[in-house]
Amino acid sequence: MDRKLKEAMLYQKQQDRRVFCQLCPHYCLIDEGKRGICQVRENQDGLLYSLVFGRTVTQNIDGVEKKPLFHFYPGSKTYSLATAGCNFHCQYCTNWQVSQMSVEEFAEFGVEAAPEKIVAAALEAGCHSIAYTYVEPTIFFEYVHEIASLAHSHGLFNLFKTNGFMTAEMLEICHPYLDAVNVDLKAFRDKSYRQFGGSLQPVLDSLKLIKSLGIWLEISTVIIPGINDEVEELADIAEFIVQELGVETPWHITRFFPAYKMTNVLPTPLEILYQARDIGLKKGLQYVYFGNFLGQGNQDTICHNCGKYLIQRWGFELLENLMQSNQCPSCETLIPGVSLSHQVSQNLT
Ligand code: SF4
Repeated sequence: MDRKLKEAMLYQKQQDRRVFCQLCPHYCLIDEGKRGICQVRENQDGLLYSLVFGRTVTQNIDGVEKKPLFHFYPGSKTYSLATAGCNFHCQYCTNWQVSQMSVEEFAEFGVEAAPEKIVAAALEAGCHSIAYTYVEPTIFFEYVHEIASLAHSHGLFNLFKTNGFMTAEMLEICHPYLDAVNVDLKAFRDKSYRQFGGSLQPVLDSLKLIKSLGIWLEISTVIIPGINDEVEELADIAEFIVQELGVETPWHITRFFPAYKMTNVLPTPLEILYQARDIGLKKGLQYVYFGNFLGQGNQDTICHNCGKYLIQRWGFELLENLMQSNQCPSCETLIPGVSLSHQVSQNLT
């Protein structure tokens, strides 16, 4: 590759020309000429470089509900982008063509997109925000950092769809411009996380830090038969959200469908999804939604106090929003979220 590379943020040079990356909890110690686990950060002559800065493999205009974020400017449009690479290797990844794409393929298929160009495109499309999504945004942090800082100065919000496997140092840097995050809490057993290429505790630490930094937070869990569908584990997830993140944190329970290297596992039985929802509600969570499972009311926002229908959705599509402020129009209870009465066209260009 002969493109100009971007020197990485958050790393330390070692005396033996190795580099120590501190961007995610893998904490890779990288020999000269080698790459980290994410495959997109390389040690060249004792300096660490991002191999994906300034280039995207996909750019789309999505509804914010698609992240999913249901309590942040409902119905608004978000300019979504990704580079290649990921610090996890989930066997059921639905974006594996991108997340597991090699840097060499990325050099061929990616398109040049300077941060200014991304922000201009988002504004031009009438988006409210920019979403760093489809793959783990941590691994293209330098690019995120430049786009997101610029986006904020133009009045755009910034959103992460993330696995939460990032260091506190990274979160401390990005929190001034990071407005909303959906974290995949993939399981509550370290064994499962090891299978996906990470570990549980750093994700739990990130979740608590995101919450304490005041960033709007929603959680997603894909329920995979045989991996994380035991009642005890689902109860542990719900309990953690209630105790550490607050009952107001929305939990998106998502149905698994066979994908990538997990084509031999059947889709999540519906009774497991209902069971998970019951567990979440019984633990005290105020907002539990289904993902990948269409049905009357499955994605609707209902006042946790009086039961009034507030926002009606079909999948990721917003059909009706009755909110006039962040209060329930019927009982005046405060509904958790950011600008829930936001009214915009959902027409995506
Ligand atoms: S971001 Fe990449 S290089 Fe850095 S620690 Fe994580 S996996 Fe390793």
